[in-house]
Amino acid sequence: MESLRERSRLGEIIVNKLGSERDFDIVKIMEYNAKERCCGWCYALGPTMRCSKCLRAYCSRECQVKDWKTGCHKLWCGKSGEKCVDYEIRDAGEKGLGLFTLRDFERGEKILVERAVATKPDALGRPIDSSKLLESTTLMSATMALAPTESSSLTVKFVTNSAALSDDDVEDGGSGLFLNFSRVNHDCIGNADHYYVPDLKLMLLVAKCAIPAGTEVTFSYAGSASSTQRGMMLRARGFQCTCTACQDPAIASELDRALELDQKILSFGSFGNVGQAIRAGESLIKLHDKFHASDRLYSRVYYDLFQIAITKKSSVKLGSKYILQAYTHALRFYGREEDEEVKRLKRFVDSPSAHRNYRIMD
Ligand SMILES: [Zn+2]
Ligand SMILES: [Zn+2]
Ligand SMILES: [Zn+2]
Repeated sequence: MESLRERSRLGEIIVNKLGSERDFDIVKIMEYNAKERCCGWCYALGPTMRCSKCLRAYCSRECQVKDWKTGCHKLWCGKSGEKCVDYEIRDAGEKGLGLFTLRDFERGEKILVERAVATKPDALGRPIDSSKLLESTTLMSATMALAPTESSSLTVKFVTNSAALSDDDVEDGGSGLFLNFSRVNHDCIGNADHYYVPDLKLMLLVAKCAIPAGTEVTFSYAGSASSTQRGMMLRARGFQCTCTACQDPAIASELDRALELDQKILSFGSFGNVGQAIRAGESLIKLHDKFHASDRLYSRVYYDLFQIAITKKSSVKLGSKYILQAYTHALRFYGREEDEEVKRLKRFVDSPSAHRNYRIMD
């Protein structure tokens, strides 16, 4: 239990670190507890009302309206998990807090959909945008409650807890700090995948497989890294993983094999080896089945196979089969027909010849 002196010290730190001149209510700042139900918009504890269509909770009508529009709840109402209803944040042993399911989730279901409370545009040392944090004292206290310690600066919290806002480190799309999503622990295989929807500015946490109630939700912090790279990244972050892949070298090498196959598909394709590309793709899909890969990865493999199959007249029909698979997996993952990726794939389902590769080798 902290003393009153420590409490006011924290208040001071919060005000100084976030650089605001507002008169903060220290008691309220100290109140936040990640384990409790909170407002879907401002994270205030003890919300008194809820969405009339789903169980999302709010502290006020004002927050509900903001969440409906700016938070895009109108798109996800009834389609995403809610803290303390569908999932909870609780102790996960040595890992500190973790996120656990309170009900069964099906593959593709959104465990949570969350906006960032602070963002950083890129790795170039540009400042963190913490303007959202200043919207409410509870939002700040929730942020201060993040690891490593309550009194560590926002910058340190950012380094420890932020998630990339772009896909697989392909490009530097910046990073964001999320209060509930940040509680999800690492596992090299994991049962969930995450994706930041840039046009909505929302992070999706998606079940990769059926997840029973009472299970910890995890994903790989290392994305599509090889086992060697993954080990280095995890050590740099200061923790040791005890997942099955880290304990069993045979599993780790199968995961590496999946990465190799992924690269081979496109290289075979670019040399016109359609048959070999398809064989590599089908081996990769078997590995994805084994490790219950995310629908996002399945969609990517099937799209690659489509791009290759349609280069030759003899495999165009197969291409149509692949693009339908790519679209079906993407729809389950992204969850909306209006999603940019889903729309892009749908266009090729309707008309494979709209793709620039169509029968280029005839
Ligand atoms: Zn609120
Ligand atoms: Zn709702
Ligand atoms: Zn591991």
